Amino acid sequence: MANAAAPLLTQEGVDDDTTLRLLATGLVQLADTLPPVRVPYSDPLQRGLNRLAWRSVRTNSPLVEGLADFLVWARRPIASWPISLNLGERDAIGPDDALLGGPDGDRPTDVCEELTLKPSPDAEAESVEKRLILDVLNLCRRPGGERTYTAYRRLLITQPVLTEDGLFTACEQPELQLLANHLRLDYQLAPLALAVDGQFALCPKCQNLVYRSSIQGVFLCDDSACAGAQGIIPITFLPVRAQVYWLRRELRRFVARPGRAEIALEERLQALGVDVELWPAVDAYDLRITFPRTGEVWAVDVKDWANAYYLANAVTPFRREPRWTRAFFVFPEARRDRQDRYLTIFTRRCQQRMARAAGGPLNLLDDRCQALFVEDFVRQVERQLAPPQGRRRANA
Ligand SMILES: [Zn+2]
Repeated sequence: MANAAAPLLTQEGVDDDTTLRLLATGLVQLADTLPPVRVPYSDPLQRGLNRLAWRSVRTNSPLVEGLADFLVWARRPIASWPISLNLGERDAIGPDDALLGGPDGDRPTDVCEELTLKPSPDAEAESVEKRLILDVLNLCRRPGGERTYTAYRRLLITQPVLTEDGLFTACEQPELQLLANHLRLDYQLAPLALAVDGQFALCPKCQNLVYRSSIQGVFLCDDSACAGAQGIIPITFLPVRAQVYWLRRELRRFVARPGRAEIALEERLQALGVDVELWPAVDAYDLRITFPRTGEVWAVDVKDWANAYYLANAVTPFRREPRWTRAFFVFPEARRDRQDRYLTIFTRRCQQRMARAAGGPLNLLDDRCQALFVEDFVRQVERQLAPPQGRRRANA
């Protein structure tokens, strides 16, 4: 009964949440290593396929016959795979969640990338994006590090692609010198597979590298918010010989992408007349909003995840300092459009975690801490700004 998957099994058998995570990790690695890989596949992919095969045998389901076969599965919603997966929670996978997507069906989806991050079971642990930049946070929490941190975060968000010269210049900036060694690791040489005619093209909206669709020939961006299937018209091109660097994938996805929403919200709220501070006290949370008339302070964390369940697994309670009176998890509108139960799933999973929390209360959501979409949040800010009925005097 020799079985390649045998050492992976526990007494309870294969846990399919882990299988999905391994497959997702393998697909993300695959997307970064064009042209196509050969056997043996990367370790996570091979282990994921072994576990999937084991589950197929145990449930008398169709077997995945190698990678090419699995790539067909990966383009279909996980819920429609011809195999019954043993997933812990009913909301974990939405009806449309697939691992690969995009017009060519060969790009890891947001859900796929979210699966690669194992949420910490420790409620007090740093949130995902904070774990990604934990060393940077530690360096910046020294006296005077706040400006360095803000400059670092803005660079990652606004310039995810840099030439060798650009990266050198960034590292030389006085406020970034402390993090020069980090920046060298955060930016990696751009994959040559993305170059067309000796040039890399940049997305005019998010400034990331775009890729050419092998089916339609148009340029596409991994952020589906930038353009749909009709393609992108790049206006900036960088020659391969300039040594082009691209922000690491997980920083693009979990720091830079929500960062764009954070900066957009900052600009919108400032236009309304509230005082906004980004990443106060070296990233205690994302935005700190002070209302001019009352001095009331609101804390905001912007979360841009496709899968509300995994997001609810990953969030941590708001830091209490710097002080706030109300706190909000804010989601981009695009998430509401794609999943109408998003808020319900997020709230229910948070409540489950709070009810089951061991080692003290876990305050994810309560009277003072809410979850909502960005337009609803902005409306709350506007209401808060409106002078009270019948009493228009300032300095109340
Ligand atoms: Zn883009």
